[in-house]
Amino acid sequence: RAKQSGRNRFAFFTAEIEARSARTLQIENALRRAIERGQLSLHYQPQVELRERRIVGAEALLRWQHPEWGWVSPAEFIPVAESSGLIVGIGEWVLRTACRDARAWLDAGLDVQSVSVNLSAVQFRHPQLAELVDRCLEEAQLPPWRLELELTEGAAVDDPAHALTIMERLHARGIRLSMDDFGTGYSSLSYLKRFQISKLKIDQSFVRDLDEDANDRAIVSAIVRMAQALGMQTTAEGVETEGQMAFLREQGCDEAQGYLLSRPLPADDFMRFVRSHRPLPAPTPAKPHIAE
Ligand code: C2E
Ligand code: MG
Ligand code: MG
Ligand code: MG
Repeated sequence: RAKQSGRNRFAFFTAEIEARSARTLQIENALRRAIERGQLSLHYQPQVELRERRIVGAEALLRWQHPEWGWVSPAEFIPVAESSGLIVGIGEWVLRTACRDARAWLDAGLDVQSVSVNLSAVQFRHPQLAELVDRCLEEAQLPPWRLELELTEGAAVDDPAHALTIMERLHARGIRLSMDDFGTGYSSLSYLKRFQISKLKIDQSFVRDLDEDANDRAIVSAIVRMAQALGMQTTAEGVETEGQMAFLREQGCDEAQGYLLSRPLPADDFMRFVRSHRPLPAPTPAKPHIAE
């Protein structure tokens, strides 16, 4: 009986693995044609500084609309793109398009300081990364300080010495680097202080329950303080409530992005959003109360 159930379990796992790899293969094949067929696009999510909510930047987020499947989530196709190596070509397209769009914002007179592009660990390790970045900036005539590259903690783990070299090379060009999803990966604090990182992006898992969870408040507060001590900025991800916003501001967090401000928007809608956005009035110092 034990043998029987063991065999069943084995059969079950095999079926599951087969189904999963069939789906992976299907995605991989479709993804191969997605760029040439114009199925990929970038959406932009505004990033604001916390005091007056001025827009300071936008994060480029990849979107894939398949003619039959509809929208496929990046959480599903990015891992496939990474394991198949397709991320190199896709990432190149993302970088080129984001730089071009950022140029268009400048040409339209919009006040958006920078565009952030997500870089997968595979791209980060690619020997021609620095040349690619140079080419994209050059083509778009975009100053390097207007480009921010988002790395995940994993990008630096395998070979920290190599990561350090690449980061220094990008940093020397004036490109800003930020650590995405900070707090969820395997970051070593001893490397963090040596890396040329100018910003920590506080992962949304710490932001989500800020209104209810004292532990999350303690973690976020500690990340902000540590970043300040190391001379880094902080951006909170996934901000959905005014309560979260108020807490983050109180703690000295620099920037935020999230559904409270805006969902990621198609390029045209993003430009409309920037045009119509009104920052909050500058906070006035509290007046002493005068009894009448
Ligand atoms: P990420 O870089 O951490 O991006 C933030 C994710 O949070 C985005 O999901 C965004 O749509 C979502 N988000 C923003 N505000 C809120 C909010 O208030 N609440 C909630 N619940 N979610 C919010 P998305 O677009 O599905 O992307 C998922 C991940 O896929 C990204 O996480 C990033 O790691 C990866 N990704 C997206 N575009 C690219 C790309 O061009 N290249 C690479 N290598 N990875 C990408
Ligand atoms: Mg990101
Ligand atoms: Mg993130
Ligand atoms: Mg994430």
